[in-house]
Amino acid sequence: MIKKQRVAILGSTGSIGTNTLDVVARHPEHFEVVALTAATQVDAMLAQVARFKPRVVAMASEAHACALAEKIRQNGLDTVVTAGAEAIERIASDDGTDTVMAAIVGAAGLAPCLAAARTGKRLLLANKEALVVGGQLFINAVREGGATLLPIDSEHSAIFQCLPEDPAGWAGRISRIHLTSSGGPFRQTPLSDLPRMTPDQACTHPNFAMGRKISVDSATMMNKALEVIEARWLFDLTPEQIEVVIHPQQIIHSMVEFTDASVLAQLGTPDMRVPIAYGLSWPARIESGAARLDFSTLAGLHFEPPSRERFPGLFLAWDALRAPEGTTAVLNAANEVAVAAFLEQRIGFSDIHAINAATLAAVPLVAPGSLPELLALDATARRAAEEEVRRRAK
Ligand code: NDP
Repeated sequence: MIKKQRVAILGSTGSIGTNTLDVVARHPEHFEVVALTAATQVDAMLAQVARFKPRVVAMASEAHACALAEKIRQNGLDTVVTAGAEAIERIASDDGTDTVMAAIVGAAGLAPCLAAARTGKRLLLANKEALVVGGQLFINAVREGGATLLPIDSEHSAIFQCLPEDPAGWAGRISRIHLTSSGGPFRQTPLSDLPRMTPDQACTHPNFAMGRKISVDSATMMNKALEVIEARWLFDLTPEQIEVVIHPQQIIHSMVEFTDASVLAQLGTPDMRVPIAYGLSWPARIESGAARLDFSTLAGLHFEPPSRERFPGLFLAWDALRAPEGTTAVLNAANEVAVAAFLEQRIGFSDIHAINAATLAAVPLVAPGSLPELLALDATARRAAEEEVRRRAK
């Protein structure tokens, strides 16, 4: 890497955000943190401001921004504090930023991702929901803005690492991709116990400490459904070219099968700092802080197909991809509402899938032609899902 990158991290107080700061801090000669954004964690943000001294930060709400500004003043720091969704978009599109890490959770990340894409940033995408909702509109913004879109999800980073560096060389070579999944915390739980699983049980991931929303998505395998949709857009694949296989050890992070039946895989210890470091340094590589793989201690690698009975939500991905384009946005909106209701203990674990399926059935599915139409569809889906939550609430 020749030029020092000026980095903005959206969602810096979250799991991906803090891992990104960990990698960036290892390479002060390559990266400068110029902006950070968060929603509610004022003290965590204050500590990040004190350590990384960004020029500007944004909190999602005025109240949290005011609380942060007061603490920043008391601590004699001079970072500018801004508030609201538009302030986060301004940070994502600022001329003084080269690289944007998109690590906000949920569809709330779409607008800042589009802002970064339209202004030609190097866009590191952890926030898969933004691409699931934005679909073709998102990809068009990347193309028209001349942005460089780099995947951070470990599976998509793995696929990306197995492909030729220049995307012009991808066409006609890929037969299928195989996305691996740990199977989550309930891979072996008796099916009859699933309806009783609690938020804390669902958030106990076997290999990763992650935010609560993605942890629940891992337990239902809706995370993998979102990743199937994400892969369709990132690598321009048909739904039929995307397969999912359960691999509990999470040593193989995903695989590309080429037209000649040769398969390339990317391996490593399960640590999000590896794909984050690759996104930051691509096409070079830098030290990530992750432990090295010790092949002499690997007992064995296990693979199994995902069960439709245990993980019905996963299979909605292919249905949604074959339906009109806005369908993936409807599925994502329903799932965000259902997961939030589950985390608030308003509904049971198995209700999540029931709400997602019922919302897909209730909302008229149309391909949105513009961002306002897409946002209107998202809002309609959320209302339908909320209605379904109320019907099922405990
Ligand atoms: P977390 O919940 O840990 O962090 C989310 C971040 O977004 C926090 O900084 C949070 O602020 C902020 N945030 C939440 N809501 C809003 C909002 N409405 N507006 C602005 N900011 C908001 O999530 P993760 O880090 O686990 O995940 C982030 C994204 O990365 C998700 O899309 C996830 O699917 C994806 N991802 C995560 C992986 C992981 O290992 N964690 C792996 C691969 C992908 P605050 O905390 O201050 O409230």
